Amino acid sequence: MARLAQTAGLTDVQQEILSTVRDFVDKEIIPVATALEHKDEYPQEIVDGLKELGLFGLMIPEEYGGLGESLLTYALCVEEIARGWMSVSGIINTHFIVAYMLKQHGTQEQKDTFLPRMALGEVRGAFSMSEPGLGSDVSAITSKGVKDGDEYVLNGQKMWLTNGGTSTLVAVLCRSDEGHPEGTAPHKSMTTFLVEKEPGFGEVRPGLTIPGKIDKMGYKGVDTTELIMDGLRIPANRVLGGVTGRGFYQMMDGVEVGRVNVAARGCGVAQRAFELGVSYAQQRHTFGKPIAAHQAIQFKLAEMATKVEAAHAMMVNAARKKDSGERNDLEAGMAKYLASEYCKEVVEDAFRIHGGYGFSKEYEIERLYREAPMLLIGEGTAEIQKMIIGRRLLEEYRFQG
Ligand SMILES: Cc1cc2nc3c(=O)[nH]c(=O)nc-3n(C[C@H](O)[C@H](O)[C@H](O)COP(=O)(O)OP(=O)(O)OC[C@H]3O[C@@H](n4cnc5c(N)ncnc54)[C@H](O)[C@@H]3O)c2cc1C
Repeated sequence: MARLAQTAGLTDVQQEILSTVRDFVDKEIIPVATALEHKDEYPQEIVDGLKELGLFGLMIPEEYGGLGESLLTYALCVEEIARGWMSVSGIINTHFIVAYMLKQHGTQEQKDTFLPRMALGEVRGAFSMSEPGLGSDVSAITSKGVKDGDEYVLNGQKMWLTNGGTSTLVAVLCRSDEGHPEGTAPHKSMTTFLVEKEPGFGEVRPGLTIPGKIDKMGYKGVDTTELIMDGLRIPANRVLGGVTGRGFYQMMDGVEVGRVNVAARGCGVAQRAFELGVSYAQQRHTFGKPIAAHQAIQFKLAEMATKVEAAHAMMVNAARKKDSGERNDLEAGMAKYLASEYCKEVVEDAFRIHGGYGFSKEYEIERLYREAPMLLIGEGTAEIQKMIIGRRLLEEYRFQG
């Protein structure tokens, strides 16, 4: 077992789950990840394997057919999976956020309808806040849901949906003015709609179009799409929680657990970069000795390993805080910020250790180099994390003078 990123105090069940996932990653993901990524191919066999392991239902309560595990267990599994291939962790992440939002905020009927099928991976979740004109500034959303009898009519364009094509249930955040007079604060006039759809591209349901995959620099294999709503009719019982005006808070709750998840991804990618760097440094010789024997390279390895350890500790702390029932926005923001920045730095150092070969597509580090930047952006940029952290610190350390 690797020396870095150990987690103290895990139960036997947690250790067993993690060891199964690690084994799956080593045997089924790492050997094929780079080839699939270069072809931008959806990893169907890997996804089927994850379904069999029950990972789509890891945090869904047992009464709905899931494993009922904690956020910590989930995050540690995500860390392992991202060590193999970050895109695969992206496939389960939006699913997990939607399942979490249903568990926390859904009506009983919504939970009964979706959670058992989500636990099996039959229904697959995506979540959609971003639009072409906004990402950080969620309050500026322009997509709209207007009540019409027993239904809502949705219009607008969404952007950057991870799993937009492969999902069958999308949690879409829209402005809804029903019951909220003109001038109501944006945060109180948004609603999450649960939009069921067929997988695929084109018109997947009357009034709903998924145009096609966005061509990305990295994070390939997993589909990222736009979503266009043009007179999309949604029954009133598909308003998350049954009441309009709560969407902003529901989404922010989902994103908060998503941030622990992105931190975990950063930890996994950084660990893999360290493994690649430390291995290459002992094989490559310059000036008569392995480059690992040059102090400059040893220092790099020391810095990389320290960052891997620090990010892991913060991620575990943030997950445990949420599991204990406490508010964890400060810890999740810090963990996401630190883990994504460190991930980028560790990957860059591993890339440098590889010299010219790091620039070749034959070496895995080339893929990691294109994947790491996504973590600086997804679930809120570094600047947004710092805003959250700063605000919370001023609440905690209010001047008493
Ligand atoms: C591959 C990928 C997958 C994604 N998947 C999803 C998904 O599944 N669902 C979804 O809803 N979204 C998704 N997103 C969107 C993502 O959440 C946004 O890209 C992100 O929140 C940033 O928004 P933006 O791109 O509009 O940048 P902007 O908000 O336009 O920000 C541009 C720059 O300005 C900075 N900035 C903005 N406001 C401030 C401020 N107040 N103070 C200081 N600096 C500021 C930002 O930090 C950034 O550096 C995805 C994005 C990518 C790239």
